[in-house]
Amino acid sequence: MTNLRRILRWLRERESAITRQVGRLVAIESSSYDRAGVNRLVDALAAEWKKRGVLVERIRRARTTERGDLLRCEWRPNANAAAGQILVLGHTDTVYERGTLERMPFRVAGGRAYGPGTLDMKAGLAIALAAVDALRAAHLEPRRRVAFLWTPDEEIGSGASRAVIEREARRSAAVLVLEPGTGPRGKLKTARKGVGEFRLEVTGRAAHAGVNPESGVNAVHELALQIARVAGFGEPRRGITVNADVVEGGTRTNVIAESARARVDVRVERAADIPRVTARFRRLRPILPGARVRVSGGIDRPPMERRMAERLFEHARSVGRELGMRLEESSTGGGSDGNFTAALGVPTLDGLGAVGAGAHTPGEYIRTRSLADRAALLAALLHTL
Ligand SMILES: [Zn+2]
Repeated sequence: MTNLRRILRWLRERESAITRQVGRLVAIESSSYDRAGVNRLVDALAAEWKKRGVLVERIRRARTTERGDLLRCEWRPNANAAAGQILVLGHTDTVYERGTLERMPFRVAGGRAYGPGTLDMKAGLAIALAAVDALRAAHLEPRRRVAFLWTPDEEIGSGASRAVIEREARRSAAVLVLEPGTGPRGKLKTARKGVGEFRLEVTGRAAHAGVNPESGVNAVHELALQIARVAGFGEPRRGITVNADVVEGGTRTNVIAESARARVDVRVERAADIPRVTARFRRLRPILPGARVRVSGGIDRPPMERRMAERLFEHARSVGRELGMRLEESSTGGGSDGNFTAALGVPTLDGLGAVGAGAHTPGEYIRTRSLADRAALLAALLHTL
């Protein structure tokens, strides 16, 4: 039996212990907006990593950001290590407000573990710990220095973490992201769309809709015309989508609306399309006489293009074969912190976390069987990359 197969067997024997670890992490609620909750989870994780003799650095955020701390855990192999670093990315925050656990407690049934953030992505955090345990138990080492970086705000755009993520990525030979795999087979993610939001603010002129409609400028009408225009910016075949998802405007039916706004979700598959799409939004001009239109926002999460993952995926596939797994790839319109690292030109492979379904919903779960498999895959990657 190869070393890698032995690691997988060792991990499978510990499936229930890893599942309990996920349960402990889920029990510490950590909404992105709950600084204290996130920091309690960071405390617990720091203690776990310290137990493993790993160098733990807590990167504190200014109180004013209202975000929790980042945690960077560095595992240094002994002599003969290859140069450079492998970055493993995960996040401690979830989309669930504190108190959700009461309605949605952690529970294990029928090969699944349910609870807020199980899949996205407390299981990923537990998988990383299990991968380190397995390598250590097998007296194996990572081929290079490994930095595990856990961020507190991935679910809300990573504003407080982006600079640290990019700094770590620049010194890394590869980035492995522990977001969930895709679908019931847990396909790895080799491409993600770039994501942004544009805001349209329209100002018109109020008037009585019955007495003097001619002196009004209807901001709602103007906005409707603008939305029709931006909807035409989408090019689905090129992977560009444009969706006005939130609109508001006007006050009451007998008043010609003085103001109206829209928030528009924009996604692109290719980085090269960002300037063109952005320019089309910036060039929007009023259509109705007397209306004003202000455009703000932009595409702030660049796409993770497939070419940045191609070779890493091939490598993962070959170590997967050695483990008896058939790994597949997928692409998604959703963003992750892997978008930032791939955009810097650093090879990035995503979707290495647990397998399950229902992320961000009351039915969120992981397949407990996937915990050992994913930990073995991560261990194999760290040992060989
Ligand atoms: Zn996530």
